Amino acid sequence: MNDTAKTDLSDLPSVHFLLEQDVVADLIVDHGRDLVTDSIRETLQSLRDEIPVAKKSPDISTAAIIRRLARRLDQISQPSLRPVFNLTGTVLHTNLGRAPLPAEAIEAMSRVAAGASNLEFDLGRGKRGDRDDHLESLVCRLTGAEAATVVNNNAAAVLLTLNSLANRKEVAVSRGELIEIGGAFRIPDIMARAGCKLHEVGTTNRTHLKDFAAAISPKSAMLMKVHTSNYEVQGFTAEVPEHDLATLAHEHDLSFVVDLGSGTLADLTRFGLPAEPTPNQSFADGADVVTFSGDKLLGGPQCGIIAGRADLIAKIKKNPMKRALRVDKMTIAALEAIFRLYLNPDHLAQKIPALRLLSRPQEEIRAMANSLVPHLAAALDGEAEVSVIDSFSQIGSGALPVDTLPSAALAISPTSGGSVGRQLKRLAAAFRALPVPVIGRIHEDQLLFDIRCLEDSTIFVEQLSSLNNS
Ligand SMILES: *Cc1c(COP(=O)(O)O)cnc(C)c1O
Repeated sequence: MNDTAKTDLSDLPSVHFLLEQDVVADLIVDHGRDLVTDSIRETLQSLRDEIPVAKKSPDISTAAIIRRLARRLDQISQPSLRPVFNLTGTVLHTNLGRAPLPAEAIEAMSRVAAGASNLEFDLGRGKRGDRDDHLESLVCRLTGAEAATVVNNNAAAVLLTLNSLANRKEVAVSRGELIEIGGAFRIPDIMARAGCKLHEVGTTNRTHLKDFAAAISPKSAMLMKVHTSNYEVQGFTAEVPEHDLATLAHEHDLSFVVDLGSGTLADLTRFGLPAEPTPNQSFADGADVVTFSGDKLLGGPQCGIIAGRADLIAKIKKNPMKRALRVDKMTIAALEAIFRLYLNPDHLAQKIPALRLLSRPQEEIRAMANSLVPHLAAALDGEAEVSVIDSFSQIGSGALPVDTLPSAALAISPTSGGSVGRQLKRLAAAFRALPVPVIGRIHEDQLLFDIRCLEDSTIFVEQLSSLNNS
């Protein structure tokens, strides 16, 4: 067995003794007595767990224990949610918070965050107002809708629309559009929770107008089209144009609803991006209601926008579920600022970060990547080689799934011996441990940092010096 002298657990100081120390008194001022007391207990417990199994006995001097305590308190007081560098190559990354907000939206949020605002107060009449009033006329102007409302996200928008317009009734959707979006949003499940019966129409690859016509019965309330955001059915395929679906729905007094998913209010081809359907097109085709996300291609805060015919939007607003799904004042402030930017399409590519990043030229990205090579090489200190390679970014969040954008990436290849896989994982972990964590992706024995989303490299470069200590 281990013959080195073991530290005796009974040598550990008491909680009471530690609380009496001067240095701990300072910690109490910063963190509060309860948290410090709890943390002392946890620190002592971790030592009790460690001592019997440790090869080398831990230092249990009072000073060493207090250092451990201070480190623990430091960790506890770190914010959990914090900024990272998204160098994954996926611009609207759901796990990394989707769209970055423009300065105008951030200013609007901070203007209303600290105090009272006219959130639900009509300043003209001096009476209670409606929080949708701040957004509705802007949505109508930008989309051609008669009315609009906003909820917590697009999943909520779909749920609320289905429940308000087709509760206990049937909704016909093409089999090719029964999608699952990351995070367990599945059209069939949402239908069930909304109280609707899903009537699947056609086949996975081909659905015709006659299939929809055959699906209509006295139980029907709605025909629905779901934008197949995160995949594309290719080959021998057929889908029914929105215009034909709208006509069929209206012949039978049904509503026609389009879930656009990402949706956009801009003509993306102006920015060299592939076209994405807009609410305006859906309305021109005869859609009664459309739903779309706030934080995908729109480039705003998380929310779901429901726009369409005034009588249907009124029904949706009256649904008690709307109260449970409503957005807060910060979302409204940010979204209003975003919509105001869309009023002037000429400046969009500069003003909306999501669009600016998506339309960033490969040349500019490559130049930025090249300028970073010496800094990164110095920080890695021979542990890995750094080069710049051409890569492809993705839009993300299910928008335009098949299209990729030419980009440039820093490619880091480990040089020391041993398992490449293990070294890559270790390197990736070291970058994630930086003060502003850097998130890349591992591909073909390299750690890749797609530079599309790195517009200001100052902090990225500055913090590289901490890489070796981690
Ligand atoms: C993304 C998406 C949703 C869900 O939107 P969230 O804003 O993420 O809730 C719903 N439908 C489609 C087609 C989508 O692409």
